[in-house]
Formats: sequence, C-alpha cells, structure tokens
Amino acid sequence: MIFDATTFSTPLKFKTELCVVGSGAGGSMVAMQAAGAGMKVLVLEAGSFITPDKMNQREEKMFPQLFWDSGGRTSVDRKVKIYQGKGIGGSTLHNINLCKRIPESILKNWIRTNQLEHLSLDRWNELYQKVEQMLSVSVIENNLLNKHNQLLKNGCEKLGWKGGMLKHNRTGCLQSGFCELGCSFDAKNNACKIIVPQAVQSGAEFITHCQVSKIIHENGRVIGLEGFVIDPITSKPINKIEVEAKQICLSASATATAAIILRSDIPFPDNSVGKTLHLHPGIALAGDFEENISAWKGIPQSYECTEFLDFDNSLPNSDKASRIWIITAFAHPMGAATTLPGHGNKHYELMKRYPNLAVFSAMLHDESKGEINPTGDLNFSIDYNLNKKDKTELRNGLITCANLMFAAGAKKIIVPSNPIVEIENENDILKYLQIDFDNLNIDITAVHPMGSIPMGDDTKKFAVASNGKYLHLDGLWIADGSLFPTSIGVPPQLSIYSMGLHVGEHIVA
Ligand SMILES: Cc1cc2nc3c(=O)[nH]c(=O)nc-3n(C[C@H](O)[C@H](O)[C@H](O)COP(=O)(O)OP(=O)(O)OC[C@H]3O[C@@H](n4cnc5c(N)ncnc54)[C@H](O)[C@@H]3O)c2cc1C
Repeated sequence: MIFDATTFSTPLKFKTELCVVGSGAGGSMVAMQAAGAGMKVLVLEAGSFITPDKMNQREEKMFPQLFWDSGGRTSVDRKVKIYQGKGIGGSTLHNINLCKRIPESILKNWIRTNQLEHLSLDRWNELYQKVEQMLSVSVIENNLLNKHNQLLKNGCEKLGWKGGMLKHNRTGCLQSGFCELGCSFDAKNNACKIIVPQAVQSGAEFITHCQVSKIIHENGRVIGLEGFVIDPITSKPINKIEVEAKQICLSASATATAAIILRSDIPFPDNSVGKTLHLHPGIALAGDFEENISAWKGIPQSYECTEFLDFDNSLPNSDKASRIWIITAFAHPMGAATTLPGHGNKHYELMKRYPNLAVFSAMLHDESKGEINPTGDLNFSIDYNLNKKDKTELRNGLITCANLMFAAGAKKIIVPSNPIVEIENENDILKYLQIDFDNLNIDITAVHPMGSIPMGDDTKKFAVASNGKYLHLDGLWIADGSLFPTSIGVPPQLSIYSMGLHVGEHIVA
C-alpha cells in the first residue's frame, strides 16, 4: 500500500524490520527485493505519490511537485543549478530515460583503487542484464529521431565525429516531449511504474510526505530513525515520525543520504562521507536556425556525440577535451526564458526565436569534489567548485558544441553567458569562447549528483562496503548514487537501479 502521512493522526510511530529512506532508483529496488524475500518493509518518501493523470505538462504545476526546492536547488555560491527529484519513484519520475552502462575501464579502475570484492565485472554485467530486462531498455530507433537530435547527428556526421543513438527505458512513447515534467501517458518504464508496484504486491508499505532527519543508534547498531511529516504545499514540517527498525537502508540520493549520516552522529573514517560529491556539471549554448525546429517535440536526447569522451586514455594536459559528453538539451518555455540572458526587448526578441532554436549541452565527467553540510534538522548545503582542469574541459566542451552547431547549419550561436555572447561566424568561435572559464560567466546545470560516500572494502578508509553495508554501524545500508567511487561520465540511473538490486540482495542474504 502507499499511504499519505498527512492523512494520519498524530503522533506517528511505526515498527518494521527494514526501513528504506527514499523511493527512487536505489530505494525502490531495495524495497522490491526485501519485500519479495518476505521481509517487513517500510519505505519513507519525502515527496508525493504523483500518478500520470496528475502530470499535466505545466511547468509551474509540475516543477514544485517533482523537484526539490521546486527546481531551484543550487550550490552555495549559486553558480550550479542542481536538479533532483522527489516523489514515489524519485528522480526517475521526471528523468529523460537515457540508459547507459558504466564503461569497463571505470569499473576496473574502481576495483584497483577501492577493491570492491562484491562488485566484479561479471557481477555488474549480471545486474545490468537484469535491470535492462526489467525496464525494457532498448535503442531509440532512427525513425524516432526528432529534428533537434537530427541536427546533432548532422553536425557529428559533417565533422566526422563519433556519435550514435541512445538507449532509453520507454514503451509506447507518444513522443509528446514532456518527459521532464513526468509522463502523462505512463510510457516511462521507471521506478514508479515498474519497481514500486512489485514491492507493494510483495507487501512493502510506502508512506509519502515523510522526510527523515536522522538515524537513532545505540551500542554500535541502528535502532530506528526520526523524521517529520512534511506539508506538500509549504514544505514545512507539520508532525514528527519515529520508526523502530533493525535494519535501515538510506536511498535518499547522493546529497540527502550523506546529510542524514552527518546529522546522526555516526562514526566514519575522515573524508569518507559528504566530501567527494560529483555532479556531472553541464553547460549549453543555443543555435538559431532558419528553419523551424520545434525542439520541444518528440523524444528528447536520443543521440549522443562521444568524440571527446575518452574513458580509456584521459588527456590531462591536452587542450582537447576528453571528458565531455555532448547531447541535445531543451527547456519548456519557462525554463528557456529563465536561461536566456537579458531582459526587455532583447529578451523578447530571443524568445521569439524559440521555435528556431536548438540547444547542445556539454556534460563533464568531473573530477572536482563538492561537499555536503547539513543545516538544521532537514536541510543541507552543497558546496561545489570546479577545479582548474575541469573548468578548462568544460570550456572546451562549449567550444565543441559551437563547432557542432555551425556544422549542423546554425546561422548564429547564442551563449547564455552574462553579458550574452552571440557568434555569427564559425571563425569567431575561439575569439569569443577560448577565454578563462570564470570570464564566461555562464550558468552551470547538474542533474547527476553522485559519489558522496564512495564505497570500498577497507574499513580504515571507507564508510560503506561494496555490498552497501555500512562498515561502522550495524544494521545500516546505503543504496543510491552516493556509492560510486568517482563520477561515471554516463547517465547514472541504470547503475543506481543496479546498485539497489545488488544491495537489496545482500540485505536479504
Ligand atoms: C532533469 C533530470 C534528467 C535526468 N535524466 C536522466 C536520464 O535520462 N538517464 C539517467 O540515467 N539519469 C538521469 N537523471 C538522473 C537520475 O534520474 C538519478 O541519478 C537517479 O534517479 C538517482 O537515483 P537515487 O536513487 O540516487 O536518487 P533519487 O532517484 O533522486 O531518489 C531519492 C529519493 O529520496 C527522497 N528523499 C530525499 N531525502 C529524503 C529524506 N530525508 N527522507 C525521505 N525521502 C527522501 C527523494 O524525494 C527521492 O524520491 C536525470 C536527472 C534529472 C534531474
């Protein structure tokens, strides 16, 4: 069953065998596994249960329901916008459905540096196969390429750069293009549609509008947790919740999970919790085309350019970016209006070009490390600054997007920097963009927080083992994007679902 905590009378006290915090890619999988094996499972989710009939394709209605801080979460210095989802299904509700496996060279590197005795290459392979089957992952067919993604393909082909069609987890897609606001047609094979129902069928209970604050422990083992019932309109706490549980699995995402541990007075080795957050920061530019593109129509992000994503041979001192992934990115009208710089007539003129704009984005497989610090009972801050090397990579990524845009036929390039940069001749790209990254003064966006509690099997160095078991407090587990030892350079959901399955199996065992 799925219950709404705001409908219960006070005070809220529960007792369960396993309490899972968060119902996204990681948490839903753990709940499904554990309930399927007969455990009594309670899942606490801070967001709402939002069914497809309530996904009305309106930005102003859906952003507050689907995203933390209504989509306004940022790093401390406000330089990075960080989008994270909430609700039954977590960030899988609004994500774009891209599915990619972590490249083998990264997995091998993790084994070399962090051991990971429970996560051999064969184990990853087994997990990926199971998850891909559950989510019906398939390559987007060529005939479903919308005009926007066709432009990226054209640009790659003209320049002779590597690219290809992406895999997604969608079935029966009507190509409405509103994926980021949740799918009104229930065509996403996400946690809410595929995993949560199986967990519920096996007896797992989910309670919405419950935000966990901290874990309660005694004599080296967990005994329960505390949190608050949250008013869905004001996001303010309205009541207390207490849960008594022998086992707790934190799956509240790479930001919130670290904050809960840091708030709970739990031991861990230095720097092993909340100091190594990666974000996959991205920057984007728009191309203005003569023809109408209507980039909001059709399946978003179906084509990728991987010419500058070199996982095997990183080029640390090269001017050429090697950790850059290029895809299309488009926003609905409100998002576009807030991203395009300027105001008044100039902004009006830019928005009038909305149907003719294409947007390419460079996402960085980042090495920079951010920090999470709890503030009060429920909130936390995210401190994230790009290091010099990452700034250069990202800047080079922007140059690459500009080259692709002109190759695709753009008449003008609009860089959403402050002040705005407009480039009408491809020979001018370097003149405008080969400058110090800080001088670009451009919005950075991140949608893939990960790596805040890197897993490893050495108790002296790591907080959590490669089976998700917390090494310094009995009964505690972690299953979400926190666990990755580095950033992964590809969209993370497939790997987080896989970690959920992996940790769920270990909890049961
Ligand atoms: C706009 C956007 C597009 C994306 N597109 C893709 C894509 O195409 N492909 C891809 O692979 N990835 C994509 N991602 C990223 C991917 O969706 C996430 O990396 C993944 O879902 C994270 O899984 P998770 O289990 O770690 O966290 P989440 O799925 O975010 O789940 C965490 C859950 O915990 C809940 N929670 C948080 N704090 C608390 C608390 N204190 N108490 C109780 N509950 C709590 C949250 O409300 C949330 O429901 C996208 C992300 C965004 C924002």
